[in-house]
Parts: sequence; structure tokens; C-alpha cells
Amino acid sequence: MTDSGASLYNRHRPSGFDDLVGQDHVARALTNALSRGAPPRAFLFSGPRGTGKTTTARILARCLTCQNSDGPTATPCMQCDACLKVGRPDWLDVVEVDAASSARRIDEMRDWLESVRYPPVSSRYRVTIMDEAHQIQKDAASALLKTLEEPPPHLVVILCTTHPWEIIGTIRSRLQHYVLRRPSVVDLKTVLSKVSDLENISATPEALDLVARASDGSYRDGLGLLEMLSAFSDGTIEADDVISLHGGVSRESVVNLVDAMARGDAATAFAELEGALDGGADPDQLMRALVAHLRHILLLQQGASPREEWGLTEDDLATVTAQAKSLSDQQVIMGLDLLADAQVRIRHGGADSRLQLELVAAKLGRPALGPATVVSPARAATPASSSPPAAEEPSPPPPDPGPPAAAVETPPPRVATAAPDEPPPPPPESEPDYAEDPGPEATSPAPAAAPGGEISWSAVIVELQDLAPSVAGILQGGRISEVTDGAVTIVLPNETRRTMLERGGNAGRVAQVLQRHAGGPVAVSYEVSSSEEEAPEAAEVAVPLADDELHDRLKSMFNATPET
Ligand SMILES: [Zn+2]
Repeated sequence: MTDSGASLYNRHRPSGFDDLVGQDHVARALTNALSRGAPPRAFLFSGPRGTGKTTTARILARCLTCQNSDGPTATPCMQCDACLKVGRPDWLDVVEVDAASSARRIDEMRDWLESVRYPPVSSRYRVTIMDEAHQIQKDAASALLKTLEEPPPHLVVILCTTHPWEIIGTIRSRLQHYVLRRPSVVDLKTVLSKVSDLENISATPEALDLVARASDGSYRDGLGLLEMLSAFSDGTIEADDVISLHGGVSRESVVNLVDAMARGDAATAFAELEGALDGGADPDQLMRALVAHLRHILLLQQGASPREEWGLTEDDLATVTAQAKSLSDQQVIMGLDLLADAQVRIRHGGADSRLQLELVAAKLGRPALGPATVVSPARAATPASSSPPAAEEPSPPPPDPGPPAAAVETPPPRVATAAPDEPPPPPPESEPDYAEDPGPEATSPAPAAAPGGEISWSAVIVELQDLAPSVAGILQGGRISEVTDGAVTIVLPNETRRTMLERGGNAGRVAQVLQRHAGGPVAVSYEVSSSEEEAPEAAEVAVPLADDELHDRLKSMFNATPET
């Protein structure tokens, strides 16, 4: 680190057009304008925060005022006072005004307009860079407009804003407008690695990649994070440092999550999610990373070519391409829809990010509850966080003389109406030892008719998804184990789900819907799947049980606790 107290961002602001990363279009246009001899004198730089608007304005100021050039130049000398002192408060020929704090009101604007009537001290122009220009109030803007209509010959005005549409049209029409774009991950990585080289900050490429992705398109945020990390870590900055300090999200987590979703493997999706969040990943960042990843998949599925600004290595791209093949575009669109909804609920409804993510994982991990065209997924018998993309079709297990098995999970879409002679969907990828039956629904105790009719579990879930999406999410992975006279038993994958269900009015909601489907009052009780003790809490591992054993166990559980 250097001795300067300035931030990394300020120490490494690009000083010429050549150093501007990711804004080639602006650099080229300004270079052309400057080389024409009589450059415009009123500019508007717009773009998201941290993209380099003020930096570009300062470069332009140097170009216009360099004392070692006969006139405006695209290649200022970087040695004269005008070049070196731009950005310093004591350099009066280039003044920076924050419109938000000092040129917002009419009186402030008048003061400033008065001050710029005087010719520059030692440069060719007097340049004013006005940040947050959209904050200028209406009457102050009218005063500014008057000056722009008849500017003093030495005056150059550069307005910078994140909200160009809020600048009144009559002013905007007098400005040359340049739009700075959000830097891509590649641009950000370029700047981050350049600055870390200059500052002797050692960081692994994975760490820089994470920083670039975490900085949300802002050079300032990216370099700020790098600075924090360099203070935080003893030696080389590793990916784990970024995750623990900033809640960054590893690509591996995102890829594994999407893999699990592609397989319809909610258990692994949950395990991945828990792992990432417990490891320090920030739920909002994880959500953003998932959106970006699914978007790349969707674009590939629609025939787009991969683009450099996605910032993917060859390996990353191979993974994304494989996932684009293993997922249906409906799944991807549904994923993006669900994530967008979740983001709205978080941003505007104050919903809990973590729960929202879990719901998305649950919904995506259970395509049976998604679009009707998605087939019942195959399921892994154990959490396999490093499983390869499931491109292959699940194949029926070989016949085996082992004990009859029943999958404890994954209710088929229409349990109540499953006909025994219908070819069942492919069974879970369970251990061959257990896999004797063609499919879970054939051996799961089918719900009997309740008073007034059958209960379709998937219909219950679908209705709950409309009525109370979070409750539907909690019930994912559960199923009806028994319907007797006026009583319904639901088996949940783990204790956490039962606890969640007991909160608030959740259980009441379920009972309400069940009653409607049963056609009369029912007592609802909840059991935790007997696989719970063998499963990591969140992993919902399916442990197949013998048909009779399952039935007996559920029955005894039910009898032991008639009401939960
Ligand atoms: Zn110069």
C-alpha cells in the first residue's frame, strides 16, 4: 500500500482515455470531438454509480486545459499544472461542484454562475464539473439554462448524473450526452488485477473474480472491497476471504445449486443452499448470482453466443452449456420468474431473503409442482453436492431381489388418481439394493378417500401456492401418509419443516385447504419422516423403507400423536 491516505479508488483513477476500462465508446467519441479543434463546451455524462463519470469528466478537463498543448488535445501531457492539479480543491480552473449540496437551490446556483464569469487563472478554459446534476431544483435549472444559452467564452460545463432523464429537456438539448455503461465482470477484473499489481496486493484469480462479481458493476465498490480485503487478509487474498468478509458467492455454489435444480433434487439444492449461506454467502448476492447464471443459460438456450462480458472461463462456459442442455427452457424461465418475484417480495415486502431463496430452491427442485410439462424428477438417494450436471435420463433400476422399497418422498403429481396399470414415471436413483419397485407411487400408501372424496396432494399444494406460497414451500417434500375417517396425516421431511409449519397460522391454512378437498372437517397431524435421524437436517435424504414397515411406522406415529 502506498503512503497516501486516499482510497484505492481515488489513487487509481484513470488519468487519460487510455486508462479508461470498459468505456471505449466514450473515449473514442471524446477523442474525435477534441481532435476537431473546436470541441463542444457543455457535456452530460450519465451512467450508474461508480462507473467513472467524474473520472471521465476530469480526463476531459485535462484534455481541454493542458498547458503543454496549443489547444484542446486528446493526449494531455500529464506533467503541467493543469494536468496534475485537476481534482484538487486548490486548482481553480477546474472546479467540482456537488449539485446535491451546493448548487441545488437558486441562490447557490446564482453564486456559482457569478463565480464562473471570471476568466480562468492559468488555463484556456474554466471547467466546472457538476456531480449529481439531477438534484438541481427547477428555478436553479432555469438560471443554469440561461448561462448555457449564452455562455462566457471560457466556460466549459460538465454535468454528471445517474438520472439523466431528470435533467430538464431544454438543458439536455444543449449538452453533448455521453452514456457510461456498467462495466462487465471482465472490465472489473481487469481493473482489480491492475490495481492489485500496482499496490502489491496478492490475490488469487478466483478471489478477484468474486470481488468483480460482488461489486455490482461499480469500480468504486470493487476497489473498495479489494482495499478492505487487503487490510483483512495476512497474505494472499483467497476466495474464502471474499466470502467470509463480504458474503460473496462462489461460482461452485451457484453451479451446484442449479445442477440440483436441474435434477429435480430438492434435497441437494437445500443442502447446497444451506452450505453456501452458512459459509457466509449473502442471500441477496446469491440471488443475484443465480439470476445472472440462469440468464446466461437462457441466452444459450435461445441460441445466443456466449459473450465476453459474462466473464466466464472456458470451464465455466462448459458448465453453463451443459446446464443449458440439461434444463428445459421452461425450468429456466420459471427459475428467473421465481427469483424476480422473490426479489420484489424482499425489496418491497421486507420478506426474509433466506426463506425466499429456500422457497425458490424448493419450487425449482420440485418440478412436479411447476409447469405441467416438466416430468417428475429423478432423485438422488444421498446429498451429492459435487454431482455432475444431470444430463442423462434417469433409467429404471435393474430388477433386484432385495426388500421391497418405498421412497419416502416426492409425491407424484396426482397421487390420488394414480392407476396401478399406468406406466409410472422413472423411479428415484436409489441404491439398487432397495430399488425393487418401479416407482414411489406404486408403493407409497395412497391416500384413501376422506369423507366426501379423495385428496390430491398436488392439488392441495397448488392451491396453497396461490393462497400461502410460503406454506406451500414448507410442505414441499411432504406428502399425505394416511387419510382415515376425519383425520389426515402428513409426513414432512424433517423437524424444521414441522417447526416452521407450527409457526403463525401456517397449520391452520393447511387444515383449511385440506378440509375443502376432503369435503368435511378433518383433523390434521404432522409426522416427521423417519429418515430424519439419518439425514443432515436440511438435506431431506430419502431413505427407502419397506412398504409394510413404512405403513406400520406411520400408523403407530399417527396413533401416538393424534393431534400435533
Ligand atoms: Zn498538461
